This record gives sequence, C-alpha cells and structure tokens, in this order.
Amino acid sequence: MGAPAHYPCSEGRGYHQICVHTLYAFICFGTKKSNKYIDSLVTYAMSNKEIIMEHNKKFVASKAYEPFAAIVKPRRKLAILSCMDTRLVELLPAALGIKNGDAKVIKNAGVVIKDPFGITMRSLLISVYLLGVEEIFVIGHKDCGVQGLNVSKIKEKMITRGVTQDKIDLVEGCGIDLEEHFKGFEETNESVRDTVKIIKKHPLLPTGINVLGFVIDPNTGEIEEVV
Ligand code: ZN
Repeated sequence: MGAPAHYPCSEGRGYHQICVHTLYAFICFGTKKSNKYIDSLVTYAMSNKEIIMEHNKKFVASKAYEPFAAIVKPRRKLAILSCMDTRLVELLPAALGIKNGDAKVIKNAGVVIKDPFGITMRSLLISVYLLGVEEIFVIGHKDCGVQGLNVSKIKEKMITRGVTQDKIDLVEGCGIDLEEHFKGFEETNESVRDTVKIIKKHPLLPTGINVLGFVIDPNTGEIEEVV
C-alpha cells in the first residue's frame, strides 16, 4: 500500500489525508451530527502539517499577529533556559508573566548543559553578546522526563527502530560515550544548580551577568528559587 491519498473536501475544507473512505463520506456528505463534532473528526483525520497550515493561513489573514509585535532584543534583557516539556509551552511564560519580546527562551531536554561549547551555551553567549541579555534564569521543573532517564532503554528502542548495533558501535568507537550523552539527572534542584554553575563559570561569559536557578511546578506554575 502506498501513502494515503489526499481527498478534496466537498465542503471546501481543503484536502484531507484519510485512508478511511467511510469517514471521509461521513464528514463531507451529510450528517445529523453537530458541526463541532464533525470539525473534531476532520481535525483527527488531518495531519499536523495540514492543521498547522490551515491555522496559519487564517492567522495571517486575520492579522492575529498584531498583538505579538516585538523587537529582536529582549525588553527585559533576560534569557530563560528551560525544559522542552510540553506542559511548559504556554504555562511557563504565563506563570512568569513573560510576553512576546520580553526574553530569549532557550529550551532543551532537562535544562542540562552537557557540553560547555555546545548549542545551549552558544545560544546563551549569543544572547549576551549580541542581544543585550544581562540576566539568565535557569528554570527546571518537577516531574521531568529526563530525571532518572534510562539510557539502556533508549539503546533498545534504537535497535527496535532499525538502528543497527554496528552503527551504535561505530558511534561509540568514534569516542561518543552514549551513556554519558543521554544520561539524565538524579535530582531536579541539584541539576539546576549544576547548570547554573556551568554557566556562571564559563570562561567566555563576561562578568556582571546575573545567573539564577528556579524549579517550576508543571501543573500549578509555581516557581521556587533554588540557587
Ligand atoms: Zn523536563
């Protein structure tokens, strides 16, 4: 079987990527169900790309971007390093009262800096030297997926997903320690303190940059300063 076809919707709702023809017929050719229910079925049947592209067209056309107007440099001269956790996507800025244009926000898995010359530290240094950042907040969170992360499980999943042991051996043979590369942390507060320490002690960070560490509750948004 090839890739699912894209069907033009008779109601002008674009093209749907649906394998289930009966669902397509049900949605587009008359039903007593409410529009809201039908919309949810259409959304379910659409790919992320379709949903996002459709939303984006409406967003731009309605000038919904206007409330987000901002300049490149952060108004609060602040950079925030936080976790990529899905619960923090909207909660973090809302709980902090951060608006578009207030801060540079850098995210990674677990707010961990594995390599002082890697991408996270690079972003922070660019924020300081080119974008006027004078303060860095490191914000870890409770119940983080990186806490106690099982590296063996990741390796097992790699094999299951078709990465051969030969390739893993090749990477490790080139000096990449996968255990260390994927290793999680034991305790959130301690991990945030470690990250703050790495930033503060970085040889390329100028003096006078205020680096603070916090932990946020991913359910209530409550933050606690830990360093
Ligand atoms: Zn996390």
